[in-house]
Amino acid sequence: MTEEIRVRFAPSPTGYLHIGGARTAILNWLYARQHNGKLILRIEDTDTERSTTEMIQGILDGLKWLGIEWDEGPYYQSDFIKEHVAAAERLLASGHAYKCFCSKEELEEKREKARALKEDFRYDRSCRGLSEAEVAEREAAGQPFVIRLKVPEGDGAVVFEDAVYGSITKRYQDIEDFVIVRANGQPLYLLSNVVDDARDRISHVIRGQDGLGNTPKQILLYQALGEKLPVFVHMSLTLDPKRAKISKRTHGELVAIHFYREHGFLPWALVNFLVLLGWSNPESKEIFSYDELLEVFSFAGMNRANSVFNVNKNDPKFITDPKAINMNSHYLKTLPLAELEPYVRRELEKVGLWQTSYADDKREWFLNTVDLIRARYHLLTDFATLGRPYFSDDVELIIEDKARRKNLEKFPSLSEWLPQLADRFESLADFSEAAIEELMRTFADEVEVKPGVIINGVRAVITGQLAGPGLFEIVTTIGRERVVARLRHTPQLF
Ligand code: GLU
Repeated sequence: MTEEIRVRFAPSPTGYLHIGGARTAILNWLYARQHNGKLILRIEDTDTERSTTEMIQGILDGLKWLGIEWDEGPYYQSDFIKEHVAAAERLLASGHAYKCFCSKEELEEKREKARALKEDFRYDRSCRGLSEAEVAEREAAGQPFVIRLKVPEGDGAVVFEDAVYGSITKRYQDIEDFVIVRANGQPLYLLSNVVDDARDRISHVIRGQDGLGNTPKQILLYQALGEKLPVFVHMSLTLDPKRAKISKRTHGELVAIHFYREHGFLPWALVNFLVLLGWSNPESKEIFSYDELLEVFSFAGMNRANSVFNVNKNDPKFITDPKAINMNSHYLKTLPLAELEPYVRRELEKVGLWQTSYADDKREWFLNTVDLIRARYHLLTDFATLGRPYFSDDVELIIEDKARRKNLEKFPSLSEWLPQLADRFESLADFSEAAIEELMRTFADEVEVKPGVIINGVRAVITGQLAGPGLFEIVTTIGRERVVARLRHTPQLF
């Protein structure tokens, strides 16, 4: 029987779920689904000062919105602290760890000396050789101590194979006897992380490349604890255009998953985009359905080079990676309407433009309208902004500057013509596209201008926009009453 694939996403809730964290979560989830495995969600909340329940909720909400379902958890690391300490005690008992009584001051002094000699400081293991009696004596005297792991001595090395970065060697002599339990009895994160992964029988540790440096120490812990090693899969990092790591501290909200949600991204568009960051497929394909990803995703295509996410923190407006926007635009245009419907509904609800009839007797009109206007949209929020003329009764619209200049102000007579056209629309027996077109062409002939002048003028007045779908279809979609009211309002626009 082959071993069960068990992976985990282990965020520290000291910040919201951001682009980098989401990428880690997504790849773990994909790998689990690809191999009929399990995704475990573990909240690494032992940094109690910086972890908040708000952040935890945000992470859970963000994962749910992305469509990432976990199979076990959320487990909370803080619930297992006793287990982490017990593991350290086992290591003491088995001779893999020792108590170190060196005070902060002593260590600082040694560190200073090393600095003066321009040497790297590494703990000199002075407590490693203490006899049992000496240890007992110091403990009895109430001397505080930390617990350190005994790193093997000699010429050996930790050697492991990372699924992305290949074979990695770290000499024992380059690893210090690191602390696993603090003087206040608190286990260190490195230990907790290993104990939890071992207990949860994690088969593959898929995480950011910033975990690579800790891996040799963690491997020593696995070995000392007699636990089976997982496969390590380190993912390249996501950087901003200035090559700084994407982080809450540097980029604020601009890299938060909730930001993309609020700014009109479809979750799958973001998932698709994030999978492509740092992963190449042989065909250089860009658009992947869930099933396609399950078929072709593999660690082999994961790049070692860090990827760049084009976030621009100096732009006060919403600006994000153009590739991400294009991806979103693709899904906006191609998603089956019934799937898009709830997202558009949410946007319209946010701005008070949603009507219950859109889910009822006007549903067909609603879906047709969404289909008509989505071709040029990039974000869901466009339905509430650019789409406003279609969903509101507003008479006064925001007119784009270009539309005003090119299609209104150049033809001042439109302020007389369009109200006249409104009268004709009002009495048109058959308000069909063909009849509307004929009426407008006849009208243009009568006032002796090219039909384009009338057509573009009407477009500017009833949509506020320079371009868009075919005008006759726009007129029937917006509907006679609203079109007539807006055309009658034309003189106020001059
Ligand atoms: N809690 C760690 C983080 O958020 C996870 C490290 C790991 O996956 O091992 O960076």
